[in-house]
Amino acid sequence: MTEMHFSIQFVGTGNAWSKPPINYNTNAVVSFLGHTWLIDCGLLCPLGLCDMGLSQSLIEGVFISHLHGDHVSGLEELLYTNFFAFQRRIDLWLPEGLLRSHSDYEGSDIWDNCLRASMETSIHGHKEFLTLDDYANIHILSPENPIPVYGLQCEIFHVEHVPMRPSYGLILDNRIAYTSDCSFSRKRIEKLLNRGIETIFHEVTFTPAMPHNIHTSFEELTSLPREVAERMILMHYGDMASLEDFKKAEDLGFRIAKRAMVYEF
Ligand SMILES: [Zn+2]
Ligand SMILES: [Zn+2]
Repeated sequence: MTEMHFSIQFVGTGNAWSKPPINYNTNAVVSFLGHTWLIDCGLLCPLGLCDMGLSQSLIEGVFISHLHGDHVSGLEELLYTNFFAFQRRIDLWLPEGLLRSHSDYEGSDIWDNCLRASMETSIHGHKEFLTLDDYANIHILSPENPIPVYGLQCEIFHVEHVPMRPSYGLILDNRIAYTSDCSFSRKRIEKLLNRGIETIFHEVTFTPAMPHNIHTSFEELTSLPREVAERMILMHYGDMASLEDFKKAEDLGFRIAKRAMVYEF
């Protein structure tokens, strides 16, 4: 099988509390065969794109991993801008758990529980309210059904993050995994590597682990052997993460994702 060449560029590598110019939310631009799309579109994503010199008109679609603001709250602006200014619908790649019509999760529908209050508006002269379908071409992803995103094979996998709330990671071209937010699971990491994933973009927090942590602390990652660490690139760290924290991680073999850096695969 011919390998696809694609790139991932981080709009930000920070967490939900990150503030520019230190960092922006962990959201990434994927480029493949002339197509450009986002993995998550958090609150700071529109600003982050602007500060990187990237117009929102370049973004053809968005994959959403879960419904925390640092991953979804920029979507309103992106959809509005595309709908009203560019007069087009972008593609929206949604895991089934984020749609009430496709899952049993209560309170986790991206439209009803997230966007509707602001975006269910009517256009002048029309009586009907706009729906999510008016703003976007919706593509539904399930873990059992990998689908091509503009020709790049993509597959979602469940991750544990907030109890009783759906969260997903993404596998691109069967080679690269992107966990988005998740609690630590050695089993999940080993499963991904055992199936042939070359590199895992994995979340990390450098503050000490708390009981019932919904994120992955660096302390937990230190239990992994070096050969595993060398295949992981860490993202979603707080603005207080220091050069010393990064060095500790790099000494163990991890790489640290940096804002605006382009990763080629
Ligand atoms: Zn989250
Ligand atoms: Zn997050």
